[in-house]
Amino acid sequence: MVIMRAIFFGTVVGFFSIHSWAITLVDDKALTSLGDGSNWLSYGRNYSEQRYSPLEQINVESVKRLGLEWVMELPKDKQLTGTPLVVDGVMYFTGSFSVTRAVDAKTGELLWEYDPKSIEHAGDRLVNMWDQNKGPAFWNGKVIISTIDGRLVGIDAKTGKMVWETMTIDPRRAYYITGAPKVFKGKVVIGNGGTEHDAARGYITAYDADTGEQAWRFWVVPGNPADGFESPAMEMAAKTWTGEWWKFGGGGNTWNGITYDPEFDQLLVGTGNGSPWNQKIRSPEGGDNLFLCSIVALDADTGDYKWHYQTVPGETWDYNSNMDIVLADLKLSGRNIKALMHAPKNGFFYILNRENGELLSAEKISKTTWASHVDLKTGRPVEIAGARYEDGSEEVWPSPFGAHSWHAMSFNPNTGLVYIPTIKQSAVFTDGGVDIGGFESPHRSVAVGVAFGTADSLPDAGSSTLQAWDPIKHEQVWEQPLPPQWNPGTMTTKGNLVFEGRADGRFVAYHAETGEILWSEELGLGISAPPITYSVDGKQYVSLLVGWGGAGLISGSLSAQHGWKYKVHPRRLVTFALDGSYTLPEFLPPAFATPRDVEGFVIDEALAAEGLEIYSSRCFLCHGGGVVSGGMAPDLRESVIPMSHDAFKSVVVDGALLGNGMPRFQDLKDDGLIALHHYIRKCARDLNSCQ
Ligand code: CA
Repeated sequence: MVIMRAIFFGTVVGFFSIHSWAITLVDDKALTSLGDGSNWLSYGRNYSEQRYSPLEQINVESVKRLGLEWVMELPKDKQLTGTPLVVDGVMYFTGSFSVTRAVDAKTGELLWEYDPKSIEHAGDRLVNMWDQNKGPAFWNGKVIISTIDGRLVGIDAKTGKMVWETMTIDPRRAYYITGAPKVFKGKVVIGNGGTEHDAARGYITAYDADTGEQAWRFWVVPGNPADGFESPAMEMAAKTWTGEWWKFGGGGNTWNGITYDPEFDQLLVGTGNGSPWNQKIRSPEGGDNLFLCSIVALDADTGDYKWHYQTVPGETWDYNSNMDIVLADLKLSGRNIKALMHAPKNGFFYILNRENGELLSAEKISKTTWASHVDLKTGRPVEIAGARYEDGSEEVWPSPFGAHSWHAMSFNPNTGLVYIPTIKQSAVFTDGGVDIGGFESPHRSVAVGVAFGTADSLPDAGSSTLQAWDPIKHEQVWEQPLPPQWNPGTMTTKGNLVFEGRADGRFVAYHAETGEILWSEELGLGISAPPITYSVDGKQYVSLLVGWGGAGLISGSLSAQHGWKYKVHPRRLVTFALDGSYTLPEFLPPAFATPRDVEGFVIDEALAAEGLEIYSSRCFLCHGGGVVSGGMAPDLRESVIPMSHDAFKSVVVDGALLGNGMPRFQDLKDDGLIALHHYIRKCARDLNSCQ
């Protein structure tokens, strides 16, 4: 293949365009292989999800020569969280609202662009402005993307034309997709999000990668037993639930963390938290609530249940297991193990035997106070009294952002280390003020059935780090501080390097063994996407999307401190190589909101309290906690729109800014808008009164 490549590129370039001559058949063989490093074929580079590249032209010695090679400006994009793919010198990536582009990976020249029109398709289902997407999949000449409104779209990789599309959700419900599709054996599989937005019942569906026709579906949690069970697995799971859980959906949505395991021909699925979070509501007499917060192994051909391991039985803190599942051969206690590694939100790092789901180790990688340890004999966590906020208010580590979220960890087989972006933060959980009995389930915008305060509302706002973790010795080998709080995924190479962007806009290369910072570059905007590496014509490149985004921005002040104000700083796809000499234009300085106090405006505290309720359920996911925007949407404390009732109504109720991704809430009445107005003015006048 290398020889063919040399012939094509050496003699035919100039006559045929490179993108019309894809020579790698992206199939199971290619996706199982480590390859020569030239391609980055899937989300985690190949089926292992290790994000490890065998390239070493850029290494601990040469990395100081790394410079920008080319840059693609993305003026229409906002949040960028995706992993680009590279197939034979062509890069494919999804931007905001899944707009998909193919570019020449050597030059950055645009080859085609496909817009799936996500906003138009979503209509009134656009309950929040999560324009983020984690990237495409590639199978046999097709780029396959997911859209926020719930579709999978197959696109011809040569022409950029849609070949098939299929709706994967019930459009009457508030499901959405931010995750990357995964391909295996001619199928493409996708889950969805929505646990916090609806009476959501999680599931995952496989489709034919060539036609989009449905192959199988696996439900994560049982429905109403009176309707019958879809599978024996659901019948088994129903025994672990109490009350009338189906009225609340149950949750378990599979929005990330899906790995195909070719050695056992199984799909390993990381499942979500409960809907609602508070177990006292959804399953009042307790129970493990299978298959929430689990790794479930499914037969790849049929979707039938094989085995499971549950990380958080009876989940009640949003500690989902949607984080990536990484495959590796490990030697543990003298045994050669086909292992999986998993660092879910709950603060533990797990190693399981993929053959049967046997738990081999579970160690804390961060401060964790909900459980003292995991009993390896029973496989169950040993919980600490009070952690379920059964006695009222309780501070628990980690917070619902997780000790580790979806930001990819990477594994380097040479160093034997895993590189994990870590958040060390607690939250206070309480039932207080929550009407458990009167909890409304269907079509809520955001409701979790528990009051919680995080981050800067606490004396210790926590910290973030990049840590290198030795999975065999169960110890941290090195750790580097990161800016608060939401830092992206990592990538590691045979060149003995670890690459990671940062919330403060710095892109850094670390020595994989020591953590020493060997190189860094300022990119002028917070980074939320993981880097990739590839090569074309023998030259190694490193690429990443630069665009501040992801659900962590809802934390308000913690995110706003970096000054990545909504739409101010340029979004880009940047690519580095040794001796690259492209220079970015001068950076725009950090920008901060200037809250406006409307002189003479009399705040009605009762109305402001009512406004807080509305804000919490509909606005804060984008506009930020305490009405401090973390950069995902405008800061309403300085916006003039809420100051005019008519303007406010035209945006919030009539959808005047729908094209920007601002949903419309047609059920909001004038008195609700007035209450919101009082709450926003209160926060603009005195931030402390809102936190
Ligand atoms: Ca969740």
